[in-house]
Amino acid sequence: MSFSSLGLSPAILHAVAERGYATPTPVQVAAIPSILGGADVLAAAQTGSGKTAAFALPLLQFLQQASATPRKLRVLILVPTRELAQQTTEAIRMLAQASPQPLKIAALFGGVSINPQMMDLRGGADLVVATPGRLLDLVEHNALKLSEVASLVLDEADRLLDMGFSDEINRILALLPAQRQNLFFSATFPTAVLALAGRMLHQPVRIAV
Ligand code: AMP
Repeated sequence: MSFSSLGLSPAILHAVAERGYATPTPVQVAAIPSILGGADVLAAAQTGSGKTAAFALPLLQFLQQASATPRKLRVLILVPTRELAQQTTEAIRMLAQASPQPLKIAALFGGVSINPQMMDLRGGADLVVATPGRLLDLVEHNALKLSEVASLVLDEADRLLDMGFSDEINRILALLPAQRQNLFFSATFPTAVLALAGRMLHQPVRIAV
């Protein structure tokens, strides 16, 4: 299997080659065509599986093909920790470097002052990687709105629930457009995780790698 058989655009294939990825990982093979097709996805994927690129590549392609002026927040990625927010943002920025039109990618997480993040959001963002509590704080400060989000990613959904973000996730879901794509990644599937997936996802493509 090669990246060029997954439906990715020349610009994205260029980014993949620049990054030095020769062949897609199993989760990438399974997820990328489904995500490009607009489906919801329920994926069992561990750290190290290549899951970040599995959702980032098709979502970057969507943002590149449907650029919005002024910028609108169209891709929202929720993660459990500051470290994962920073790491995921860094990985996505690397893949977005060769983007024909530059995309604004913001990392939003708690444990640091909110003001630089508010400044960073002036002029809007195309894609946000956020921890749930800080995202809600920024929404309450009118620093961003969620009404144009087309794709939502829950990364490490089991850890999001373990860390007690259930209420925050529910509040965020209520602020999002009902019509949207949902991508759900988790390493484990205890009852609470399955219940959240059941509420969030519509006829998901199931991926176990
Ligand atoms: P992740 O599971 O998303 O945390 O990715 C784990 C590591 O694998 C990261 O360092 C990625 O840069 C790398 N990676 C992701 N996809 C590929 C690929 N297709 N080929 C080689 N390395 C990859």
